[in-house]
Amino acid sequence: MMIHYEEALQKIEEACEALPVDEVFLREAHSQVLAEDVFLPEDLPLFDNSAMDGYALQSKDLQSASEASPDTLTCIGTIGAGDSLDQSVSSGTCLKIMTGAPIPAGADCVVPVEKTRTEGDQVTFKQSSNAGDCIRRKGEEMRAGGLLVEKGTPIDGIVWGLLATANKAKVKVTRRPKVAILMTGNELVEPGEDLRPGEIRNSNGFSMRGVLNELGVEVIDLGVGADDREELQTKLKKGCESDVLITVGGVSAGDFDHIRDLLEEGFLGFEELFYKVRIRPGKPVRCGTMGKTLMFGLPGNPVSCLVGYHLFVKPALKKIWGFRNWRNPVYKTILKGNIKSPAPFLNFWRGELAPDSESGKWVAIPKDKASSSMLTTFLGANGLILVPIDRAEVVDGDSVDFIPV
Ligand code: AMP
Ligand code: MG
Repeated sequence: MMIHYEEALQKIEEACEALPVDEVFLREAHSQVLAEDVFLPEDLPLFDNSAMDGYALQSKDLQSASEASPDTLTCIGTIGAGDSLDQSVSSGTCLKIMTGAPIPAGADCVVPVEKTRTEGDQVTFKQSSNAGDCIRRKGEEMRAGGLLVEKGTPIDGIVWGLLATANKAKVKVTRRPKVAILMTGNELVEPGEDLRPGEIRNSNGFSMRGVLNELGVEVIDLGVGADDREELQTKLKKGCESDVLITVGGVSAGDFDHIRDLLEEGFLGFEELFYKVRIRPGKPVRCGTMGKTLMFGLPGNPVSCLVGYHLFVKPALKKIWGFRNWRNPVYKTILKGNIKSPAPFLNFWRGELAPDSESGKWVAIPKDKASSSMLTTFLGANGLILVPIDRAEVVDGDSVDFIPV
């Protein structure tokens, strides 16, 4: 039975559980997914410190300082970042201080070096200053015990840095998914090899590896299987050693679509989650489980295959990888152009979200060709424009949803 896009996502949500958790050294955690809530062990910053290179002093000493009547203080030493001086500032004195250095006892503000003039140990100030100026207060960014990074956050450079801040020398991450990919079709030939009549290049093998590499999962490439039951059985068995198996081609209505037959026969205990979704392109996508392995059978047309990946496989991979936000984001934008769409299908049209040449506002510009066999229609696109299921067309100026890919 053909189901709706949202129902298919619902089924994926129900079927996908996060993979087991590993503890790794922080230096190995980049581009993994955090599997624990991380709390700040100590105040951030840990101590009052200077926001500028300048002079730490008592603000009351400069109360009447002005251009016409500057005040002069005696500099009694220098503190750098990382120093822990026990020298303190008293009225009439100041300490030279560098950005990040702890504020010395007695001082209540820092005056940037650019606002001063120095002669020997005498420092002249031409402006008054207030208590707290140029001081980063202990705990002002976050208090000890605060939730710093939530479980399910991908560890990008920013998060990696925050984990270091929180002294996480080791961190819990969800195991990186192992994803096997299998292309099918007698016609497929690798680049560099000679083409015989009727044969074509295996482009999907590269597209799929590419998008999976971009996501960062571990890819096990099972190469190309011929349209031959036995060969495909062997390769499917191999694919079931991974967390997820993606097959491409051979799932539609053709005489040699053996993947379809094998799945329908329940090969390796295949249990269907859904088959056929009311979308264009990518309608004949299949999803199910083979034992512990989540399996996707994507259609072979290059665009259908990629759309199926972005709409279903990628969210599922993120879910089992423990991402908190595993669904595709959807942007609301304005269409610049027109799209005709075969109802009743939710249409995902390749498009580019870009600033409009006249208004500078971000708009979705549709690619001009629809064919799901043409990979070139994806070139330069940065997402999919949604044409609702009950619309035969959307026109210039219409509000549309856009899924970035
Ligand atoms: P299928 O889903 O097997 O019926 O294939 C649909 C269309 O996609 C056919 O024209 C195939 O030749 C083409 N196709 C299937 N797999 C690939 C691939 N790996 N690379 C390029 N085209 C493919
Ligand atoms: Mg085929």
